[in-house]
Amino acid sequence: MVEPPKVDEPRVEDKLFQNRYLVDAGRPHVKIRAHIEPSPELLALIKICPARCYELNAKGQVEVAPDGCMECGTCRVIAEPTGDIEWGYPRGGYGVLFKFG
Ligand code: SF4
Repeated sequence: MVEPPKVDEPRVEDKLFQNRYLVDAGRPHVKIRAHIEPSPELLALIKICPARCYELNAKGQVEVAPDGCMECGTCRVIAEPTGDIEWGYPRGGYGVLFKFG
């Protein structure tokens, strides 16, 4: 049985909260190809993205809000080869700022 973490141990969520993100308004660095039904790759992004940038809308389509993206590249590896997303780094000065490792 896995022991729960001790109270004084830092949690991943606490570390992520210390990151800062400068939004490049109107210029998202991740875009999803328009679709009626999401591909398995797009659906996978909802669970895989550590920043939870992907979600289903009321029509059952996958949407992305890259504010808070950590630029880990996971979605890029999975969904860019299928053409489901377009991914690029934010412009210089924008995007994630890792303050504490
Ligand atoms: Fe999420 Fe990583 Fe893709 Fe950013 S690069 S949207 S954090 S999976």
